[in-house]
Amino acid sequence: MSAAQAQQKICSEWNPVNKNEYRGIWVYVEYVNGVIKDGSLQLIGKARELAGKISTDVTAVVLGYNLGDAVKEPIYYGADKVIYVDHPALAKYVPHIYANVIVQLANKYKPEIILFAATKRGRELAPYVANSLRTGITADCTELDVDPKTRDLDQVRPTYGGNILAHIRTPTRRPQLASVRPNVFPTPPRDTSRKGEIIEETINSIPSINGQGLIEVKSVVKGEELPPVEKADIVVVAGRGVGSADGVKLLTELAKLLGGTIGGTKKVVDAGWLAADRQVGQTGKTIRPTLYIGVGVSGAIQHVFGMKESKIIVAINSDPNAPIFQYADYGIVGDYRDVVKELIELLKNYKK
Ligand SMILES: Cc1cc2nc3c(=O)[nH]c(=O)nc-3n(C[C@H](O)[C@H](O)[C@H](O)COP(=O)(O)OP(=O)(O)OC[C@H]3O[C@@H](n4cnc5c(N)ncnc54)[C@H](O)[C@@H]3O)c2cc1C
Repeated sequence: MSAAQAQQKICSEWNPVNKNEYRGIWVYVEYVNGVIKDGSLQLIGKARELAGKISTDVTAVVLGYNLGDAVKEPIYYGADKVIYVDHPALAKYVPHIYANVIVQLANKYKPEIILFAATKRGRELAPYVANSLRTGITADCTELDVDPKTRDLDQVRPTYGGNILAHIRTPTRRPQLASVRPNVFPTPPRDTSRKGEIIEETINSIPSINGQGLIEVKSVVKGEELPPVEKADIVVVAGRGVGSADGVKLLTELAKLLGGTIGGTKKVVDAGWLAADRQVGQTGKTIRPTLYIGVGVSGAIQHVFGMKESKIIVAINSDPNAPIFQYADYGIVGDYRDVVKELIELLKNYKK
């Protein structure tokens, strides 16, 4: 069987749906400790723009327990409606429970698009939901558009190491699911004069925490947190040249000794060595610290975009021709392991 035939076979197992039965754009709005994640607000802004092109409305979906007035917030940022479920089983985030509730809501209301911020939770929930709804998902989009004729979502994301931009569509299935990293789109202004519809949904069959024997959350322990990259005055940035998660660990030690924080390039985030919210650059955070130290960072334009306003730029790279040196105030050519270990020793002795 050829690859094309195999593809055809996989697709035919998922029969096309009647697209006309599906209307509206949903944004899964993530509340953590009573605060909406910026990435969700940014998606409401984008959803508003897309909704205008296909004359539909924007609905925010909020899950949690004791949500109170928080459910109104998405309206202030551009949603037309909020559908919320307030239930003790949703007090703690448990992926299979949250996904199950979103799937039940989607089966009832039939939205044509569901957007998720590509946070830790969003990255986990979106594929869970997509699989349950037997539909496609495009993760980590950097742009979204919609075709007014077919109402197909144009999901744009870099691929092959960022060398090409893929335009991905879900032409025969609904809803269409996509996730977008925080800060790709701007946060819309908060307008408390906006009005919208608030719908409380009661879901009768929320799976119990232990019900499916999958995951039981015993407790939530907050890990040691360094300041976010956009807030720190000193940022040590790990590039692909550090080679592994252990390399990032070494740089984190350096960042702590300097009283700063750790960031990374896209390659480091894509490799899973660092959380996505620590990415610096065009599709990550824009930073302006007093001191930026780039270690094993080549200096690609998409990265430089996010750090070029730093006051003092230091680059450590084994390649004397690495482009990062063009932007650096101070450059050290060498293997980062030698250089960083020595810096750590110096700082430890200095602090004694
Ligand atoms: C649409 C789009 C958006 C993008 N957005 C971003 C973004 O937001 N942020 C971002 O960072 N990138 C972004 N990229 C990716 C960007 O183009 C580069 O691929 C990326 O920045 C390169 O990361 P890097 O410098 O870690 O890796 P590389 O380019 O692979 O560089 C690794 C460097 O490490 C050096 N090195 C290797 N071993 C050692 C050693 N032992 N000691 C010291 N140095 C060593 C090498 O000489 C090299 O210079 C984007 C790309 C696209 C297409």
